[in-house]
Amino acid sequence: MSFTALHPELGRIDATLTDLGQGLSWESVYRTRPRIELTCPECGYGVHAKLSPRRTRYFAHDPGRPPHCQLAVESADHHLLKLVLAEAIRHAGWSADLEVPAPDGSWRADVMATSVADGDRMAWEAQLSPITEDDIRMRTDRYADDGIEVCWVSSRDRVPWLCTVPAIAVRPPEPPTAAGRWMVHDGLVRFDYARGRWVQVDDVPLAAFVRWVLGHGLTFHSIGHRYRRIHLPGGNATMRRSASWTTQRSIDSEAKHEVMRQRQETAKSAREEHARKAEEHRKQVERERQRQEQERRRIEAEERRVEAEERHRLFMIEMERQRATREAQRREQERQQQEQARQEEVARRERDRQEQAAAHQWWSGVSAAQLTELLDHVAALSVAEHTSRALPGAIEGNREHAYGIAVYTGRRLYGVVRPCPQSLGQLRTSTRVFVRNAHEEALITATGLIGAALVTHFDLPDHEQTTLL
Ligand SMILES: [Zn+2]
Repeated sequence: MSFTALHPELGRIDATLTDLGQGLSWESVYRTRPRIELTCPECGYGVHAKLSPRRTRYFAHDPGRPPHCQLAVESADHHLLKLVLAEAIRHAGWSADLEVPAPDGSWRADVMATSVADGDRMAWEAQLSPITEDDIRMRTDRYADDGIEVCWVSSRDRVPWLCTVPAIAVRPPEPPTAAGRWMVHDGLVRFDYARGRWVQVDDVPLAAFVRWVLGHGLTFHSIGHRYRRIHLPGGNATMRRSASWTTQRSIDSEAKHEVMRQRQETAKSAREEHARKAEEHRKQVERERQRQEQERRRIEAEERRVEAEERHRLFMIEMERQRATREAQRREQERQQQEQARQEEVARRERDRQEQAAAHQWWSGVSAAQLTELLDHVAALSVAEHTSRALPGAIEGNREHAYGIAVYTGRRLYGVVRPCPQSLGQLRTSTRVFVRNAHEEALITATGLIGAALVTHFDLPDHEQTTLL
């Protein structure tokens, strides 16, 4: 079916227009006798005027049409939408022509809107069958080559190319009629500045949408990258859209928001930079503090080391001082000992000298004869006691025998004759002592050094001089 046909005399006629666009009545083509030879503008095959059950006017191909005619295979829905678009365009004050082919055949507009004022044209395409994004972009480009804007309209639920080319999705009334209220439910958005996002608009009738587009109240706008999550009305649901129809006011609002957002981001990155620098400064201060602390500890350790060395040095000095003191004490002690020994030696010599003097005195009163007499008595006594004659070892007395004369029976000491009383301490306490008389014995025992039992006297005259006197 189609809404246009070629009249054999008048050319193109349009079933959606009251006068068919040529000042003709519907009745002049519908069920006429004889039949008017109308042809299809697409394939040139014969068509005839018809009325749908809802009394919509259209043209149908005669039986046996070629199978490739595009107009012949278009669905009733497609034709209905074209009719709705044509009526919306005419309602907006523009003229609408259906199934308008390009002079070179590069496009055929479902509905071509033409401005009555300045002749501007805009194509409106009812696209219900599936089409690839590449194909629909290519078809849009063909219009652009001829300076014609286009808006693609679909009544399908899912329209994959909705932001590839200028397009909208519409919802038909129930039941779907040209007179009913068709609504745009996708492809139109407004910018919510307060929330900084695009929101889908789904309460605009198609007729209003067409009027706004033709009146330049709506623009097909490429949405900013940061705003492509479109919010659906009444809820949190979102969908991705890279382009959509919207008002200039929303476009300006988005731009303003982007400026504000960038300003905020700049401020934020400035704050972050400031915080980063502050943190860096803090770390640097901390590093410096640690370095100073380390330096302080190093200095303290160095001071402790120097102190310890000084203590050690002082300790060594003290040790040396003590050692020197001990050495001096030892030397002093040695000196004192030497001095004592020297004094003792002097004393001993003095004693010896005195003892020798005393011995000299002691023996000075005894003549050789008297000594012989005494020795004879001793010898006699020894014979009596031991049958062994005691003989003097040496006439000269010595200190060991207290300056007396030691007498021996054989090799054995028998006793000491006449030891000097001053030197008696030299004798062993068991040594027998022989003296001339009681007077001499008294001198010996008076010392207390020799017991009386060990002293023997022979009652000899005291002194030769005395005898002589
Ligand atoms: Zn045809």
